Amino acid sequence: MDNSGTQMAIVKQYLLTLVSQFRVGDMQNLDVIVVGAGVAGLAAAHTLRGMGRTVVVLEAADRVGGRALTVPVAGEAFDLGATWLHDAARNPLVPIARAHGETLIDADAARARRLLVDGRPATHADHAAYAAAADRFETLARAAASAGDPSLADAVAAMEDDPWLATVETWEAAQIAAADARDFSVRDWRDNALEGANLWLAGGIGGFCARVLAPLAGDIRLGAPVVSVNWDGLVTVATARESFQARSCIVTVSTGVLAAGTIGFTPPLPAATRDAIAGLPMGLLSKVAVEGDWPDRLGMAPGTSIRQRVPARYAPTMSFHCWPSGHNYVSGFVGGPTAWALARAGDDAMRDFVRARFADLLGADAAARITKITLSGWGTDPLHLGAYCYARPGAAGARAVLGTPLGDGRLIFAGEATRTDGLAGTVGGSWLAGEEAARRC
Ligand SMILES: Cc1cc2nc3c(=O)[nH]c(=O)nc-3n(C[C@H](O)[C@H](O)[C@H](O)COP(=O)(O)OP(=O)(O)OC[C@H]3O[C@@H](n4cnc5c(N)ncnc54)[C@H](O)[C@@H]3O)c2cc1C
Repeated sequence: MDNSGTQMAIVKQYLLTLVSQFRVGDMQNLDVIVVGAGVAGLAAAHTLRGMGRTVVVLEAADRVGGRALTVPVAGEAFDLGATWLHDAARNPLVPIARAHGETLIDADAARARRLLVDGRPATHADHAAYAAAADRFETLARAAASAGDPSLADAVAAMEDDPWLATVETWEAAQIAAADARDFSVRDWRDNALEGANLWLAGGIGGFCARVLAPLAGDIRLGAPVVSVNWDGLVTVATARESFQARSCIVTVSTGVLAAGTIGFTPPLPAATRDAIAGLPMGLLSKVAVEGDWPDRLGMAPGTSIRQRVPARYAPTMSFHCWPSGHNYVSGFVGGPTAWALARAGDDAMRDFVRARFADLLGADAAARITKITLSGWGTDPLHLGAYCYARPGAAGARAVLGTPLGDGRLIFAGEATRTDGLAGTVGGSWLAGEEAARRC
């Protein structure tokens, strides 16, 4: 699926805006400049401060958090981006949240699952067939990952005739990894399969970044879009308004932003780094909040998640999560190639799609009583250009290459893309990536 045309137009418009703002400003001598105040950038700055280093964080947006963004919906916190603290036992944000008195909710305990087959509830036989398909999928994919690095789709080709393949594959690739199974390294799938408990932060992960993580990070300049990084000797980082000098620079922007060329690097990045960026395209997971006039809450218990058997591989589909945390909205998720196609088609097409899938899964009457749909726009936002990255077939090693310091530690890339411990694509992984980059400066 080619998103390059749409994305180049977005980036061109964004760069024109930056040029119109340009004026020469201050130079400052610092130990480290951090580009981006998402979770990785906040972690890097916090760690550097703890090491006694002088550091400034330059953030293009007018807020911190990056792909962690909490907005109000129906008077409650709604995470448009990162939602769960995955793998809670080793997630570094869990102890930080606890230490700051944040309320954590056991998201798994509060979840019930519903599966529909052609509009009717799945039978015991359907569930058994689904479970068997999931087992076979896992066995085939893991065997393929041990032998080589084909696409996830090719790795499970032997079960092409299984009527549940499309459902399992859509869940594993599009919904969880935001990826297109045909373009997704089976090793990257295996290496980042999340395990363990999942927690929610009652006030949202974006809210947590603003309330707790940003104060730990110190000097953050908002509205400071970086346009160039010169890492030939002392590092000079220029924003649209001013430039800064430091011994090192940690860049935490997404691989989508890196691939778009929004930030110019002098000298140019080495071929291995450029290949790694190309091997880690952005997947897209579009999250929505649906509100409606449903006095009986559609008869669904809080935490009920609903999906359907996917009729064919790569067929458009969506899942819904009713009243998460008891909140008065239904959240919805659409991922992978369908999400990209809808991002290209625009907001009206996305809203039509949500209404149609809502009618499929929760009934036409319920869909007719929708009063508001809140969209996320990660695919078209020039500061992110996607949700999180996945590795292409044969590129499972790209995360390690991208995270390798350049120029004796003068330039380091960090963020969800660079994690190799199974936490890639998560806020926990981003925090660890930021900490590690800080220690490598
Ligand atoms: C819909 C969705 C659902 C998700 N669900 C989960 C989940 O449930 N659990 C989970 O753990 N993770 C989830 N994630 C992934 C998680 O949000 C990311 O992995 C994580 O937030 C990435 O953090 P980061 O610091 O690496 O990058 P970012 O958050 O992208 O931070 C980079 C920062 O750089 C800034 N920037 C960009 N360009 C420039 C520039 N030129 N100059 C200066 N600043 C710039 C950006 O504005 C941004 O603030 C989800 C993501 C999405 C989109």
